[in-house]
Amino acid sequence: MKLWEKNIRKVEPYVPGEQPNIPGMIKLNTNENPYPPAPGVLNAMKEFQVDKLKLYPDPTAKILVDELANYYHLNPNQVFVGVGSDDVLAMAFMTFFNSDKPILFPDITYSFYDVWAELFKIPYIRPALDENFKMKPEDYYKENGGIVIANPNAPTSSYEDLDFIRNILSHNQESIVIVDEAYIDFGGRSAIELIPEFDNLLVVQTFSKSRSMAGMRIGYALGNEALIKVINDVKYSYNSYTMNQTSLMFGVEAVKDERYFNECINKIINTRERVIIEMRKLGFSMPQSKTNFIFATHKDIPAQKLFTGLKENKIYVRYFNKPRIDNYLRITIGTDYEMDTLLRVLKDLVKSE
Ligand SMILES: *Cc1c(COP(=O)(O)O)cnc(C)c1O
Repeated sequence: MKLWEKNIRKVEPYVPGEQPNIPGMIKLNTNENPYPPAPGVLNAMKEFQVDKLKLYPDPTAKILVDELANYYHLNPNQVFVGVGSDDVLAMAFMTFFNSDKPILFPDITYSFYDVWAELFKIPYIRPALDENFKMKPEDYYKENGGIVIANPNAPTSSYEDLDFIRNILSHNQESIVIVDEAYIDFGGRSAIELIPEFDNLLVVQTFSKSRSMAGMRIGYALGNEALIKVINDVKYSYNSYTMNQTSLMFGVEAVKDERYFNECINKIINTRERVIIEMRKLGFSMPQSKTNFIFATHKDIPAQKLFTGLKENKIYVRYFNKPRIDNYLRITIGTDYEMDTLLRVLKDLVKSE
C-alpha cells in the first residue's frame, strides 16, 4: 500500500435511481413530476439572453431568494438557496452538525443522510421506525448533536403531523432540527409556520418534485436569520456561485405561477388516491401516502419479482434491497395514462402467479 493511500477519504457513495433512456419506457423510479414546469419557465427560456452567461451570477441569488420569501411570507434573510436540496442538506450538515454527540435520524429514511454523516465524519444513530414505519418520538428525547426528519418520509411515504414536529422541537431546543420537506406539497402541512416559534428549526424544500424542475437543481432552506446567516457563511467559504443564472431566472418563474402549481399537485393527488384503491384490489398494501409516490408490498408476490416483471415491460420503479424494506416497491405517481399502464401490467403479473 502506498503511503498516500491511507490519507484518502474513502466513502461509500449514495446511489441515485437509474436514469434509463429507453423508447416507450414509463419512468416511475425517481419521484420526478410527470407534468412540465410552469408555462412561465418556457417563456423565460425562450427570452433568455445568452449574453448573460458571460458574467458570474449574483452570489446572493437575490431574485430567487426574494421570490421565495414573498411566497412564504418570510424575510429574505430567512431564505437560503442551493443546487437542489441535496446541496442545501449537505451544507446544513456541514454547518450545524459539529458536535461530538451523535445526530439522529430514522433507520429507514432518505439514504443520503448517512452518506453525508460519513463524508463529514459526523457520528450518528438511527433509531428504528415502528412496524408501521412511524417514528417513535421518545427515541428523539435523548442527548444528540442534531436531528434530521424527512417529512413526509422517503421511501415510506408516511407523514407525521405538525404536533409531532412541534413535540420533537420542544424536546430538542439545544440542537438543530432539520425537517426535509421534499414531498410536503403533496398533502402535508409544512413546519414553516413553526419558524417564528423555534430558532433551532431549519425547513428544507426542493423544486425537484412538486415544481417539476429536477433537471434545474434548485433547493432551499427556511429558518430564522441567525441560521441562514451561518449556512451562507459556510457556502461562501466553499463555493460562492452555486446558483447559475438560468436556475435563478427559471426558478423565479416556477414560484410565481401558484395556480399552475396547485393544478399539478391536485392532479397527482387524485391519481395517487385512485391508484391506491386499484392496487389494494390487486392484493397490495401500503402506508397512507402524503407524497407523489406509493410504497407498496404484495401479500403473495415478492417485490423483487414484481420489479423485474415491470422492468421487462419497460416500467421502471424503485426497489431497495435493504433490511425491512426489501419486499416493497416505491412507485412514483405518473400521469393517468402511465398509471393505467402500470395497473394493467401489475394485474397481469398478479394473475400469472
Ligand atoms: C428527492 C429528495 C431530495 C433531494 O432533492 P433535490 O433534487 O436534490 O432537490 C431530498 N430529500 C428527499 C427526502 C428526497 O426525496
